[in-house]
Amino acid sequence: MDENTPPKKAKWTTNAKGGRVLIDPDGYQYLISKKVKNTSYWYCRERAKQACKSIAVLKEDSEEIVSLTEHPHGRGLAKEHIRGIEEKHILAASTQPSVAPRVILGEITSAINSTASGSLGLMRSKSAATRAIQRKREEVRTVIFI
Ligand SMILES: [Zn+2]
Repeated sequence: MDENTPPKKAKWTTNAKGGRVLIDPDGYQYLISKKVKNTSYWYCRERAKQACKSIAVLKEDSEEIVSLTEHPHGRGLAKEHIRGIEEKHILAASTQPSVAPRVILGEITSAINSTASGSLGLMRSKSAATRAIQRKREEVRTVIFI
């Protein structure tokens, strides 16, 4: 990253154990390696699986990412993260059958924007999401009325 690049604000999620997971503007995720004074060093969450050596450097006080390196792989994990957000909203939608699918899609979009805005492109298509909502509602109806 050269000096003319505007600082990139970190986004966050948590892992299964509640630990901090850093998300960069492209949607890649990182785990903490070490912290020295106000600077922390983060390694790619896919390091082992993808043999990825990418590192992010963060200023702790401002939560700005001051250095990033390229990843030799796609945002596979971010995609799982996006799917998780989608599933949560689709499940919630199944218990509120009167809410229009496009309203649910709007909720999914803003939820993704608030955690990993660089990953909106990973969202499933509108029609695929609408079908998923309808399918889940169908399942719930079946469970209730059997
Ligand atoms: Zn990586």
